[in-house]
Amino acid sequence: MLEEESADEDWEFSLSISKKLADKGWLCMGWPEQYGGSNASYWEQFAYLEEAGYHEIPGTGMGISGTGINGPSLMLFGNEDQKKKYLPLIASGDPDGIWCTAYSEPDSGSDYNKIKTTAIRSGDEYVINGQKVWTSCAHRARWCWLACKTDPSISKIHKSMSIIIVDMKSPGITTRPLVNLAGVHSFNELFFDNVRVPASNLVGEENKGFYMLIPALAIERLSMAPHILGNGRRLMDMLVRYARETYDKGQPLSANQVVRNKLAERAIELETLRTFGLEIMWKMSTGKMPGYEAARNKLYSNLVTENLAKTGLEIIGAYSQVSPDSKWAKLKGRLQNLYLLNAGWFSAAGTIEIQKNVIGQFKLGLPRPY
Ligand SMILES: Cc1cc2nc3c(=O)[nH]c(=O)nc-3n(C[C@H](O)[C@H](O)[C@H](O)COP(=O)(O)OP(=O)(O)OC[C@H]3O[C@@H](n4cnc5c(N)ncnc54)[C@H](O)[C@@H]3O)c2cc1C
Repeated sequence: MLEEESADEDWEFSLSISKKLADKGWLCMGWPEQYGGSNASYWEQFAYLEEAGYHEIPGTGMGISGTGINGPSLMLFGNEDQKKKYLPLIASGDPDGIWCTAYSEPDSGSDYNKIKTTAIRSGDEYVINGQKVWTSCAHRARWCWLACKTDPSISKIHKSMSIIIVDMKSPGITTRPLVNLAGVHSFNELFFDNVRVPASNLVGEENKGFYMLIPALAIERLSMAPHILGNGRRLMDMLVRYARETYDKGQPLSANQVVRNKLAERAIELETLRTFGLEIMWKMSTGKMPGYEAARNKLYSNLVTENLAKTGLEIIGAYSQVSPDSKWAKLKGRLQNLYLLNAGWFSAAGTIEIQKNVIGQFKLGLPRPY
């Protein structure tokens, strides 16, 4: 489970662990020391995040907008003042360093050309109006990384959209909860009614936000992979143990050929996911940005997770039909939860069809789909 999807009582505990990790410089370990990191290499970060996912350490920043998306994006596109102000705050593990990312709107998900939220310059400020939706963590965030139209007279998004940082304590902001399939309030509707922010909160150039959005999305798609891998390995180990210890007609499930075949397939997929992840780390450690590979990893990690959840549900059989918190749930209801939450992960950070479009265009050289 990603941190953003945790229930309120777990969230508080996560924050307390984040603080401890931050004190060691581990929360954002790949960042330069001046911004609160430890200058860790890509390899070190990958290993750390995979192991943190395996041991299910809360508060490691997994799936958190600030550490995974907005901080790294600010590192690339923010000015020095913005870096000095926001990066150490994110890396400190303080609740004031929590961010949300607001791209999606009721009529604009995959297609950013349809973004309607506006930020109109008025003297030294921008005045923001509009609505976002599915904004993870908006109810906990202090800062919002907002995609909005700064020139509504131009329809093409690459000439009219900007990224603006919004203080979530600003007057005129309303968040309304949306509860996910697993019954957790993780995302929100977010309304802006004449919200005023300083013009200095613009990131990069006005009307050029689209050119930041694409790398920011690649960063977002990459940021979850080691965690999904580590957590997938953990669930595999749990399933293997369950298959060894559970007997059917006098035989352990692990002796059943179908069960063995499915577990072997899932193990191979997890190994493949790791290889994909390490290939990207290698590319980045040679100074290159990953292109289509971020889409490939996002898509593949969704498929690996789905297959793992389905295999798990098949192995635990009829017990998979009870609610995850029922006393009859096997393996603490983890497989049911995974199955339910993965449905959303298929869409988060771009749907599987959008990832395939990216691969078609940038790996195979196919023409743009629209
Ligand atoms: C768990 C979760 C967390 C999220 N968190 C955030 C968040 O923090 N911030 C945020 O801004 N958004 C967030 N989202 C929203 C997410 O980014 C969108 O759901 C996603 O971009 C898809 O947009 P949409 O739902 O409007 O679907 P649409 O774009 O309307 O797509 C509907 C269907 O059409 C398909 N489709 C659309 N265009 C194409 C195309 N060109 N080619 C092929 N198929 C296409 C899609 O794949 C999809 O199946 C979150 C979503 C989930 C589920």
